[in-house]
Amino acid sequence: MPAEIKRTYSTRAAKPAPPSSPPSELTSPPPLKRKRPLADRLTGTNTPSKKPRRAPGATASKSKSKAGDSSAATKPKQGKLTQLHFSLDTPTLRTCPLCDLSYTRGAPDDEALHKAHCARVQRGLEWGREEQREAEKAGVEELESSVKLPNGARGRIVCFRPDVGGKIGAKLAILLDTIRLALSSPPLSPAVLQRSKIYLFLLSTPGASTTREKIVGCVVAQRISTAMAIANPAELSPSSSQTSSQESTTTASLPSSQSEPLSASPASSPAPALLPVDSASNLYVHPAPLSTPLGIPRLFVSSAHRRLGIASRLLSVAAQTFILGCPLDPAKGEVAFTQPTGAGKAVLETWGRGGVRIYEEEQNM
Ligand SMILES: [Zn+2]
Repeated sequence: MPAEIKRTYSTRAAKPAPPSSPPSELTSPPPLKRKRPLADRLTGTNTPSKKPRRAPGATASKSKSKAGDSSAATKPKQGKLTQLHFSLDTPTLRTCPLCDLSYTRGAPDDEALHKAHCARVQRGLEWGREEQREAEKAGVEELESSVKLPNGARGRIVCFRPDVGGKIGAKLAILLDTIRLALSSPPLSPAVLQRSKIYLFLLSTPGASTTREKIVGCVVAQRISTAMAIANPAELSPSSSQTSSQESTTTASLPSSQSEPLSASPASSPAPALLPVDSASNLYVHPAPLSTPLGIPRLFVSSAHRRLGIASRLLSVAAQTFILGCPLDPAKGEVAFTQPTGAGKAVLETWGRGGVRIYEEEQNM
């Protein structure tokens, strides 16, 4: 399945001649993410064709990519692609069970980059003395102090604009890149960031001399205009038309496929047709755009600090403070998410109390 295709460090733009994967994988999110039109995604799944069809014994990466290029030029693109990918990946790529990232085993650059990424995903990034020193000047607000977690640890929640610059801006760039890799999501566009605030959970680790802080949770909160309501399970009919439309449209981007195609379905009731968002979790939305002020395009908690309520805490603070003097209530449909899968889905259900909505981040400019 294409869903298995992992991005690796060797596909990063900084490296012009990736040893293991074609560069086009970098910018193509895996299927089931609704970030891109279908055409883009198909291009993405084609990329394994550029992989060398050499036996596992092949080692020199340069000759590999040459072989790949020529084969891509002469062979039809579809067909054996998936298999090529896997037969090759076995000897050269390793997928880390801790951070889920794939990287080229034995390639020093890849190994080093993975090690750094893996540590960030598990334990968070440091919020050091230099960041703290610039906090006031950068307009970093402390919104909650001395938050006590169920495991006894303490932390605080800070908020700032994404355009802070300086040490904090540099740290934010690393954090957002870590989140991008961890969620396999595209980078947040400048247009989205311009309408966003960053909320961080800083965990305190009392040391011998000084207390150190780690960024263990991050919520990006974005001003939006509309979002779609999630259908409740009772509204999902098990009719055959529903099933087939699900298969054909899961990969379509949400807003563009609104209304027409689905509502034409003859088997559907007078109720407006539902749009599938994530077939794996049976998530559907009502296509009608509803006025919604707050969107959450990214939500991240480092893996060693999950199940401590950090995400909920961050989201609650964001909902309360995003619009000055106007606390928002997710149960009333005032908060929407772009990523209803994975870790985001659990939050959708618990924190949102059934009221959160779904939106497409680039459509709400
Ligand atoms: Zn890892």
